[in-house]
Amino acid sequence: MKPLAIFGGTFDPIHLGHLCVAWEASELLDADVLIMPSGVPPHRPPPIASADQRAAMLQVALRDQSRLTLDTRELTRSGPSYTVDTMAELRAAQGDRPLVLLLGADAFAGLPGWHGWRRLFELVHIGVLSRPGEQTVLTDELKQAIAGRWVDDPSALRAPAGQLVALSVTPLEISATRIRELIAAGREPRYQLPSGLFDNSSLLAPYRR
Ligand code: ATP
Repeated sequence: MKPLAIFGGTFDPIHLGHLCVAWEASELLDADVLIMPSGVPPHRPPPIASADQRAAMLQVALRDQSRLTLDTRELTRSGPSYTVDTMAELRAAQGDRPLVLLLGADAFAGLPGWHGWRRLFELVHIGVLSRPGEQTVLTDELKQAIAGRWVDDPSALRAPAGQLVALSVTPLEISATRIRELIAAGREPRYQLPSGLFDNSSLLAPYRR
């Protein structure tokens, strides 16, 4: 059965760095990918754009292709959205289908700070996406938890969960933080964002000063 991959984030806003790595991960894993914006992120300050505004940008960004689809379940949940709860929900719905949680190298290094992180290995595989400029120092705790889980071939994930694969994707040095700064400074960061986000001036309004 084709794996199902999950790519979460604040997507404040979604940018070409996200889309490029999600697309390449879907090719490497031969998986469908759910793009899953987080509601109230437990690990960071709240997003600038509202849930509805981020979903609207994602809808525009994901037009005209069918491998990456928007999943808004965390946006509609009240309270903090913990990844482990979402993965448990997906596992219950998907039976033995391989599930792969996609994490940028920076997010992966921070995994031990996540609520219930050890349980994630019972629920999903983890695909680690290379990200430029990231010095990924893994804590001893994380190193121990992942020992023996690495597999070399992304297309060989057959079990439902428990393995780890490095996904070597094309590095694009784009970050949402930088994009928000540019827009706030009155700039128009074309070619870092999907072009559709510039078609409707209200989409990027939350970031303008
Ligand atoms: P911010 O600058 O607001 O922190 P971000 O650009 O890191 O935002 P997030 O929404 O926090 O975007 O990222 C969601 C996921 O995408 C994370 O796992 C992150 O590591 C990954 N990611 C973001 N940008 C890139 C990129 N350019 N290359 C690879 N992975 C990325």
